[in-house]
Amino acid sequence: MDESDFLKDLKNCELCEHKCGVNRLEGELGVCRMTMPVVASATLHPAPPESYTVFMAGCNYRCLNCQNWIISQYPDNGIRQRGYEDPKELAKECIYQLDSWSAKNMAADRIFFSGGEATIHLPYIEKVVEEARKINPDTKVNFDTNGYLTEKSLNRVLDFTTSITYDLKAYHDEVHRALTGASSDPVLRNAEYIGRYAKEKLWEYRILVIPRINEDEIKPLAEFIADIDPSLSVCFLAFRPNFILENHSGADRVLMDKCVTIAKDSGLESAYWSGYADIPGCSIDAASELKENYTKESAHLAGSYAFYKGCHTHPRNCAQCNSNQDCGIKRYIPRIST
Ligand code: SF4
Ligand code: SF4
Repeated sequence: MDESDFLKDLKNCELCEHKCGVNRLEGELGVCRMTMPVVASATLHPAPPESYTVFMAGCNYRCLNCQNWIISQYPDNGIRQRGYEDPKELAKECIYQLDSWSAKNMAADRIFFSGGEATIHLPYIEKVVEEARKINPDTKVNFDTNGYLTEKSLNRVLDFTTSITYDLKAYHDEVHRALTGASSDPVLRNAEYIGRYAKEKLWEYRILVIPRINEDEIKPLAEFIADIDPSLSVCFLAFRPNFILENHSGADRVLMDKCVTIAKDSGLESAYWSGYADIPGCSIDAASELKENYTKESAHLAGSYAFYKGCHTHPRNCAQCNSNQDCGIKRYIPRIST
């Protein structure tokens, strides 16, 4: 068997719901614009679940709020990452780090794959996990995802993962598209599947709360989760001004407390919030040019932020956009990061 046979899925890449069908091994580019898997960085990380976190470069979304834009918008922002690494060597590094005194002190007990979006490098991650478990068969693994996986990819993830941290960004498709460039349908489908059939693997759903943009999404998302199972855990994260939303107001404590109240009122038993709240900012006027493209005010506002920074497909739809290989959003370098 060829050494790189584990990457054969990249020859006709349908790892995520964009289902581009491109041959990444021959340099063809889909929506994520990634060919070979690239490791951005890796570090011991104290946020629960405490871990040795491997950040993979690239993403299948183009989120306006991205806090990890340096990693996720690779390669278009031109910022250097670690690069492709032999999965055996990365596995050794992970095990070595998890055995260290610092890891024990922090109670780090698993490899945590994040990004960017881990899904776009799924075969590589499977190989790293396989190699890690050759060294220590009890190696735990967390998979951090935006949920835009095919059902086939989700089943592969469920096969090897110990825990899953799962981001939900909006319930309504229009708001999700305006914020990320992709549909919410597969994300909700997969969230429901995990909540119903693999509940034991779900660490928590995570919802980043962005004032005026997805505030109205909190209630339908909380009700959606409570309807699956009221005992599923939800963490609300306070938005901090970043990337395309570099000047937009951060979430304040009043709003974060309100999200927890909404979740509890919806029947959820385990809801809390985390992150840095109260970072000041402002908001733009929604673009009158986009009035006909969005029905919800929040989607109109998000779409406008993208529009002003060079996105001209509205409603946003990165898979169908003629500019998806030459996108101003992916190239954007913010002046402010929080
Ligand atoms: S966007 Fe998804 S389907 Fe398209 S090339 Fe990237 S991982 Fe594959
Ligand atoms: S220009 Fe196209 S690819 Fe870029 S963010 Fe807008 S819709 Fe997506």
